[in-house]
Amino acid sequence: TKPIHVIGGGLAGSEASWQIARAGVPVILHEMRPVRATDAHKTDGLAELVCSNSFRSDDADYNAVGLLHWELRQAGSLIMQAADAHQVPAGSALAVDRDGFSEAVTQMLTSHPLITIERGELTSLPPEDWDNVIIATGPLTSPALSEAILARTGEDSLAFFDAIAPIVHFDSINMDVAWFQSRYDKVGPGGTGKDYINCPLDKAQYEAFIDALIAGEKTEFKEWEANTPYFDGCLPIEVMAERGRETLRHGPMKPMGLTNAHNPTVKAYGVVQLRQDNALGTLYNMVGFQTKLKYGAQAEIFRMIPGLEDAVFARLGGLHRNTFLNSPKLLDGTLRLKADPRLRFAGQITGCEGYVESASVGCMAGLFAAAAAQGRDLTPPPATTAMGALLAHITGGHLVHEEEGAPRSFQPMNVNFGLFPPVEAPNKGEDGKRLRGAEKAKARKLAMTQRARSDFGSWVQEIGLPQMAG
Ligand code: FAD
Repeated sequence: TKPIHVIGGGLAGSEASWQIARAGVPVILHEMRPVRATDAHKTDGLAELVCSNSFRSDDADYNAVGLLHWELRQAGSLIMQAADAHQVPAGSALAVDRDGFSEAVTQMLTSHPLITIERGELTSLPPEDWDNVIIATGPLTSPALSEAILARTGEDSLAFFDAIAPIVHFDSINMDVAWFQSRYDKVGPGGTGKDYINCPLDKAQYEAFIDALIAGEKTEFKEWEANTPYFDGCLPIEVMAERGRETLRHGPMKPMGLTNAHNPTVKAYGVVQLRQDNALGTLYNMVGFQTKLKYGAQAEIFRMIPGLEDAVFARLGGLHRNTFLNSPKLLDGTLRLKADPRLRFAGQITGCEGYVESASVGCMAGLFAAAAAQGRDLTPPPATTAMGALLAHITGGHLVHEEEGAPRSFQPMNVNFGLFPPVEAPNKGEDGKRLRGAEKAKARKLAMTQRARSDFGSWVQEIGLPQMAG
């Protein structure tokens, strides 16, 4: 069989190579380090963890990333084997000795008879005779390759920054205060004239909010981030607030064209709008609210907004260097570039976020690529599983509708329960009493993870994945 080429030996590329080799197909893994460095990696090891040494929660009952750990282990993941073997104590989280972890991944890939590792940078799109390629070059994809991808995919298809507005779970928004309405009741394509959730602030609330933004603790901007292009279009809200106390009222918080459904005669001084973020309608993003505020400060300050006093955030805002594709537009259901299907993408460059998520997308890409090399069809994991939910976020359904002038709404995301289809959960406890609040949320999470594990187990059987590693 012709080898599959995997570009980038990070979390995704390492896992993809492993899955391909396990399926019996030869792989050539191209990693540019140490020939060429990135701004964050420090070693020449494969699957180097660039920052934290945590894979986050290992709880497969109540946590979406813990569920992803479980699914990866079921799929015989190299990343999870190396992580489990190099675990360090971290409560209910899975944290690893980063050097031991990376060395184990490097060793297992190097010693596999079907895997060849070549050190060197890919500076252009792969040559035409590589007909089955996975590009997993990560958030810090080298500039030459980024430009080649940009030239192939088109202008609005590759972003260099996450300008992330916070995302809120719909069921944590107080709709006794907030209301649904599009500005001037405008009906856009696919819209209803009631597409946004609006949170009103009076003058005193607005002034207090501006004070809090200005005083809030910010994260530093790294020099190499500051020098990356495409920054002008996405000013953080606290920078806007510093430029003038009224700036936000004329920008993302403008109250024009909106009437408070609960209190029609009182005009709001400022309005925060939230836009539906996933097709399920379980997540809403705060429009124009990208920020460099520290996470703790964000949660505290955003809960000052009427209607968001009990907001639960699926992700907080941020702004940092991150090369990623507008995947829902560009990729098909098995992660191939629609415009050039010999190229498949994996890892953070597809618009997932996090070590475990990147490894999971690498796992799926490896399985898809190996199946293609062997002339087999491979059904993607069901959307009810953590991997399937992540794949659905990346490849489709995520863009609700794009209005003119609105910022792109596809943003990288960690796996979270908001990405899963709704589930029937018990509404009574064992004592027969009606479940409420936190208890109800817990029951729903458990129902989701139980459904996921059952469906993932069936999928693994259906596709005939070898149960043992290697
Ligand atoms: P990577 O692991 O970065 O792997 C990509 C590989 O491709 C690299 O080894 C790189 O050298 C190589 N490469 C790049 N271009 C080329 C080329 N042209 N030719 C050949 N090889 C190439 N996630 C977390 O869960 N926790 C964190 O604490 C965390 N911190 C982060 C901090 C920073 C500064 C960044 C940028 C990201 C962070 N992330 C974190 C997000 C993300 O999960 C990790 O970056 C993760 O490593 C992504 O996996 P990946 O396989 O997609 O990319």
